[in-house]
Amino acid sequence: MRFQLAILPGDGIGPEVVSEAVRVLRVLSHFSDCEFICNERPIGGAAIRAHGTPLPEHTLQACLKSDAVFLGAVGAAEFDHLPTQQKPEAGLLGLRTALGGFANLRPVASFPAIADCSPLQRSRLKGVDVLFVRELLGGLYFAQPRGFDHEGDSAFNTMRYSRHEIERVARIAFEQARTRRRKVTSVDKANVLETSQLWRRTVTRIAEDYPDVKLEHMYVDACAMHLISDPARFDVVLTENLFGDILSDEASAITGSLGMLASATIGGSVDLYEPVHGSAPDIAGQGIANPLGAIASAAMLLRLSAGMHHEANDLEAAINQVLEEGYCTHDLARPGKHVVSTSEMGELVQQRFAEMLDRRFAYHAV
Ligand code: NAD
Repeated sequence: MRFQLAILPGDGIGPEVVSEAVRVLRVLSHFSDCEFICNERPIGGAAIRAHGTPLPEHTLQACLKSDAVFLGAVGAAEFDHLPTQQKPEAGLLGLRTALGGFANLRPVASFPAIADCSPLQRSRLKGVDVLFVRELLGGLYFAQPRGFDHEGDSAFNTMRYSRHEIERVARIAFEQARTRRRKVTSVDKANVLETSQLWRRTVTRIAEDYPDVKLEHMYVDACAMHLISDPARFDVVLTENLFGDILSDEASAITGSLGMLASATIGGSVDLYEPVHGSAPDIAGQGIANPLGAIASAAMLLRLSAGMHHEANDLEAAINQVLEEGYCTHDLARPGKHVVSTSEMGELVQQRFAEMLDRRFAYHAV
């Protein structure tokens, strides 16, 4: 199988973590007929420097022709003075819109090996395994009108959702729940916002098509509290764009480092995979970034776009094993652990992944 992958390293630590994820994916070609054809293109600040725009046409075309897109991160302080539409982040928003992916999947789980990095007590972390399904193309980030008036003395954004936008992302949440513990928590602010009232009505109706999945509704403020006090109560959390952005970052603290978290954006013409973190300019170029969020995003790609479920499980198990062996990057450093660089961490995961694939393919050859 030949799999066309558009690689967009982006800015800051983006190129550092993406190269490790790509190296891990290439391990697969030694064990199967799966070949990843990687087509690297600039986006964000790197694209502004090279081509004067955060999303060059050749980058967009390469993405649209691919089987999947793999992105690092965008953002650089040197472009802070530019208008919103010309900043590096505009490249990512433009790409998301063009690809059409409306459901952003962000898994958050606790790893026992790094439980002491979490601000939560170990007892609260037991069994934490949450999947955020965040609506990504609607709500405050996209709806019109938006802007400034009164010569910049007031500003406004619009929260708008259609029934169709809610239905399609809700179906993805219920489908995902069927592969997990069969529970969806739909998060809104229906006591105040009309968009949330439509959200709640629509999700309740879609739930009728999934009688095997339990649905609960929760206000966003209560959800923010429960994520800290009892995160294990959640399975799939379904929510709109802004709430999902904030809640999933809050939940990232559970794991112990933002650098651990993966994401997939699905539902459009081409799926997009990226670690949850940004370009982290404070640590860029030092070889200390944690590549595990990017590598875990590669595991999501194997599962959701390449249909390689066993290999995705093996890659996640390889990440877990390296952590269990006591290796960690700078962000997870603590006494008694072996701190390694970005590339050393990538190398370790590659080795453990190769060992697992070796066992799997040897077993099938018997
Ligand atoms: P950030 O995620 O880049 O960094 C937040 C903190 O987490 C920093 O201290 C950073 O060092 C640390 N961190 C992040 N990823 C890490 C990793 N892999 N390993 C170790 N430590 C890691 O968020 P920020 O500082 O708010 O934003 C920096 C830039 O990134 C901004 O320009 C912002 O717009 C952009 N950004 C981009 C994306 C994206 O491309 N999807 C997402 C968020 C922020």
